[in-house]
Amino acid sequence: MASLYEIPIENINGIGTKRGQLYRRLDIDTVGALVRFYPRTYEDWSKITLISQTTPGETFCIKARLHTPAVERRIANGKLLVTAELSDGYSFLKLAFFNNKYIKSMLRTTEEYLFYGKVTSSGGTKEMINPTFAKVGEGNAIHPIYSQVAGLTTKQIEVSVKKALTMLPSQIKDTIPKHIREKYDLIGLKDALTKIHFPENADDISQARRRLIFEELLILVLGLNSMKALPSKKSLVGIEKDYTSEFLELLPFKLTNAQLKAVKDCVNDMIDNSKAMNRLVQGDVGSGKTMVAAAVCYTCVKNGWQAAVMAPTEILAQQHFQTFEGLFRDTGLRVALLTGSMTLKQKRLVLADLADGNIDIIVGTHSLISENVAFNRLGVVVTDEQHRFGVRQRSDLLAKGQNPHLLVMSATPIPRTLALIIYGDLDISVIDELPPGRQSVDTFLIDDSKRIRAYNFLIKNIESGRQCYIVCPAVENNDTGLTAVEEYAQEIQRTVFGNYSVAVLHGKMRAAEKDDVMNRFVSGEIDILVSTTVIEVGVNVPNSTIMMIENAERFGLSQLHQLRGRVGRGSDKSYCILVSNAKGEEARRRLKALCCTNDGFKIADEDLKMRGPGDFFGSRQHGLPELKIADLAENVNILHDAQSAAKELKNDYFDYENKDLGGLRAEVRMLFNNVGQQLN
Ligand code: ADP
Ligand code: MG
Repeated sequence: MASLYEIPIENINGIGTKRGQLYRRLDIDTVGALVRFYPRTYEDWSKITLISQTTPGETFCIKARLHTPAVERRIANGKLLVTAELSDGYSFLKLAFFNNKYIKSMLRTTEEYLFYGKVTSSGGTKEMINPTFAKVGEGNAIHPIYSQVAGLTTKQIEVSVKKALTMLPSQIKDTIPKHIREKYDLIGLKDALTKIHFPENADDISQARRRLIFEELLILVLGLNSMKALPSKKSLVGIEKDYTSEFLELLPFKLTNAQLKAVKDCVNDMIDNSKAMNRLVQGDVGSGKTMVAAAVCYTCVKNGWQAAVMAPTEILAQQHFQTFEGLFRDTGLRVALLTGSMTLKQKRLVLADLADGNIDIIVGTHSLISENVAFNRLGVVVTDEQHRFGVRQRSDLLAKGQNPHLLVMSATPIPRTLALIIYGDLDISVIDELPPGRQSVDTFLIDDSKRIRAYNFLIKNIESGRQCYIVCPAVENNDTGLTAVEEYAQEIQRTVFGNYSVAVLHGKMRAAEKDDVMNRFVSGEIDILVSTTVIEVGVNVPNSTIMMIENAERFGLSQLHQLRGRVGRGSDKSYCILVSNAKGEEARRRLKALCCTNDGFKIADEDLKMRGPGDFFGSRQHGLPELKIADLAENVNILHDAQSAAKELKNDYFDYENKDLGGLRAEVRMLFNNVGQQLN
């Protein structure tokens, strides 16, 4: 198999430079890639329907002969039209083919054919336009259907795949060792590749799918495992004493039981010196994860170590920095910030202090993983909103200490299946309780007709001292060069909110501008913040109580839930207004789901069901490569099996002398190569 990835696609008979380019557009550049290009679905030609039994508008397979020879003629604009009349012995049907000069010679009155396609009706006569067909007895009853690109039909792909399969060596080396195949009841690779493309029956399809899904998940799991920090390694970071009760004295409120439990889990992990802490704290938006991080950092620092807190955006890093600084003001703990937008001089100072041990807690963006960052005694790494980072970034930061403790925090409630994959090696604490006094955020779905009422509602709340967010999708107007948020903000300032302060926040602004806007919003100087999803993660301004989201149908459910999590953070009643003119039933159902529940886990599961994991966090944010055939939401059982198999294969896999698993290693490299920098 491995060598087929070295044979260019153009080596297949019938694929020249031009067609080769079309294939390359589908990311198929070699013979190997083509045989790994699985059908999207199949057509079942085994069920034959009489012409008289067909209903226009639906797809059928009919078995018939040509009643009259095919006729070829030119029609308007020079197009070629071939027509013929079919009979199945009982009734007639008209055939029409456009622009195919080979058809006439392919259709003979002496043969019987199967025609597969949509039946239409024109003036009472049944018709099939451009159906696919084959001589009776030729080929299988089940035909593969491939994703197409312009210029390349599924039939052409089918023909090329057939040729590619003949290029497989007779003894191909299976990526999955025999004992694993036997144990998990998997067919061989060559068999699977043949059956996935050219199955003879439904059973072939399911056997082939099972084998190929298993293989893909095994590849995924092995790849992730080889990138994760080695588990169960003894930490050299000694934590002797628990300082949690001292920490609690610093707080203006009492931690919830769920927060206390999470802190306790973490501190126990750190004190148990047989292995480093490796824990995920999962909690819905607003559950107070930052305090858990602060408690962990406090105990760590008090034991003589440094702590690093990594956040995915500058705004969030800035905000955590301020929280930590405020909290630890009178404790003597030294907190510093490191972000990409700081000047070189500022950075140098921080880096020197960090290396000398003059900083106890460093809060930053992914600039924390840049090469020139060195710690004196790194004891714990905290990553906030972990799903925004690749697995690799997590381990890069860890590598800056001697197997330090790790705490990852995630607000996006990750569906169990995904958590299993991404965090398979982590212990998990769940914060399933919100701080007291929180009210659920009332959520409404409206369309344009209610917009004025919504604006008036905003004004009423601003008059009583509250603030609001309005979120718009991040698009740019090519004519004006302004982003949609800028135009929108100008417009509402001019028309409705003349008496109030409206400001804009989007990703393309310079960091200093963003900081400035955020600070003015926090201080209450700004009434309405019009922004893109840059405020999606973590931002905490409790006085802001209304979140209005324009074109809500363009966002994923989990993303909307995250956005909504920006309000309802204080004790005041909060609201989320989803504005959408989408008429589609599916879109409305999705948005309504959000109006019914505030439970992030329910929403996440719903989201995964509706959109699939590829879209779950927005593409690529979860750092998982794109899968060809496996579906993380659907194939949970196979995933479990693949995980067990990965464990069984672990020693052999990492023993690079063992050439048996060379094919598997190559596939792992290939899958992860496509993800680019994040995991590479
Ligand atoms: P998230 O889990 O979304 O990161 P944060 O840590 O930002 O949530 O906390 C949200 C808000 O709740 C902050 O203003 C924080 O100060 C406050 N908070 C956290 N824990 C408590 C608590 N136990 N009681 C009251 N307020 C709390
Ligand atoms: Mg947070």
